[in-house]
Amino acid sequence: MYDVVVIGGGPAGMMAAGRAAERGRSVLLMEKNPVLGKKLLITGGGRCNVTNNKTEVRTMLSKYKGNDQFLFSAFAQFSVKDAIHFFNSRGMATKEENEGRIFPVSDSAKSVFDVLVKYMKEGKVKVQTNADVVGILVDTSTGNIKITTKDKKEILAKACVLATGGISRPETGSTGEGFKWLKKLGHTIVENDFALVPVALADGWAKKLGGLTLDNIKLTTFQNGKKQSVGKGSLLFTHFGVTGPTVLNMSKEIGELLKYGKVVIELDLFPKTDLGALKKQLQKLLVINNNKKLKNVLSDLIPTALAATLLSIVNIDGETKNNMVSTESRKKLVSLMKAIPLNVSHILGADKAVISSGGVALPEVNFKTMESRLIKNLYLVGDVLNIDRPSGGYSLQLCWTTGFVAGSNV
Ligand SMILES: Cc1cc2nc3c(=O)[nH]c(=O)nc-3n(C[C@H](O)[C@H](O)[C@H](O)COP(=O)(O)OP(=O)(O)OC[C@H]3O[C@@H](n4cnc5c(N)ncnc54)[C@H](O)[C@@H]3O)c2cc1C
Repeated sequence: MYDVVVIGGGPAGMMAAGRAAERGRSVLLMEKNPVLGKKLLITGGGRCNVTNNKTEVRTMLSKYKGNDQFLFSAFAQFSVKDAIHFFNSRGMATKEENEGRIFPVSDSAKSVFDVLVKYMKEGKVKVQTNADVVGILVDTSTGNIKITTKDKKEILAKACVLATGGISRPETGSTGEGFKWLKKLGHTIVENDFALVPVALADGWAKKLGGLTLDNIKLTTFQNGKKQSVGKGSLLFTHFGVTGPTVLNMSKEIGELLKYGKVVIELDLFPKTDLGALKKQLQKLLVINNNKKLKNVLSDLIPTALAATLLSIVNIDGETKNNMVSTESRKKLVSLMKAIPLNVSHILGADKAVISSGGVALPEVNFKTMESRLIKNLYLVGDVLNIDRPSGGYSLQLCWTTGFVAGSNV
């Protein structure tokens, strides 16, 4: 039996595990992914906005929309200053950017990750990856907690820290299982409030395509040249940009990314055809119709309005006869059809949207210890908690504070 089992290898779980182990507890950290910290590594566009330099506790807490009365005791134990000191004293230098945002000097989320991994190693935390937890049960007579995994292993712990995160970016592992277990145990889970909103584009040409619908397309978002997420389905151009189910489903993530910099969506018109095959397809069309104009033949492949737009983006005259289209022009056209860059200006309604994290209702948690007020020996940390907060490092600060406090009390 372990003293402590932490479920979830995100920032809150790693902090809780490291801190509990530092205090001499035997700790097992269980993560269902093959690796820890998948979401942490993409925070701040890969740079990780670690916290916000609001070192006065009351100023900091005013950012958590009316939840300061809950958070005060936790922040009194581990504040912004403590978090900055935690990372600085472990060799990770930090710098301040606009609006007090703190980043690692390395501009890499990996630096934050490495500090946490080292912290856990020093305390000899046992880490189990590919450990997909499917349920937790409380033995009311002993107070011990039984954790069951998908492959039917059972682990007993004197205390359990639940750090399974929320439900944003499910591909990182945050898929909301924790909420189901907590509901079963009698906790109130405030529903997540996802804003599904259209996306405004900066590209003038896109706005001229208002009304055009494209089916069977693929959208890939990029920030700082790094691929972020993918959506497949249909897309509708409007007078301000793009909408439709695919882009609506991606809008929350796009909004999240925009807080950290420019976002480009690449539109692939032929996701099922690779570049080489598409090149051959176009070449064949041009040969068959060698005496026709390029703009007319392109319309066999894509809607006419879009054909004219693409030709103007790559600066090719649509009046050119097909037998006169250069190899380079063909190459340019095909590459564009596989990756039309849509430059995001903003998401609609972002000014009004309050990002509500959803999660466990705060009155059900004792913030002096992060223990559940309903289930003894069960501790709740990070995104599992229903705390509204703005962007700017406030989410991760919650992970450091709640993780540290739980680790100090298990
Ligand atoms: C694109 C993006 C950028 C962001 N950038 C910033 C930023 O710069 N600064 C900031 O403050 N905040 C940022 N955030 C928010 C921040 O990432 C989250 O608040 C933080 O990751 C929450 O940490 P957590 O440990 O509570 O949960 P998570 O990071 O979600 O980790 C939960 C872990 O639990 C694991 N898990 C879930 N279910 C199970 C199970 N059944 N069994 C085993 N393991 C399980 C998951 O695989 C996952 O690894 C960003 C969020 C996004 C989406």
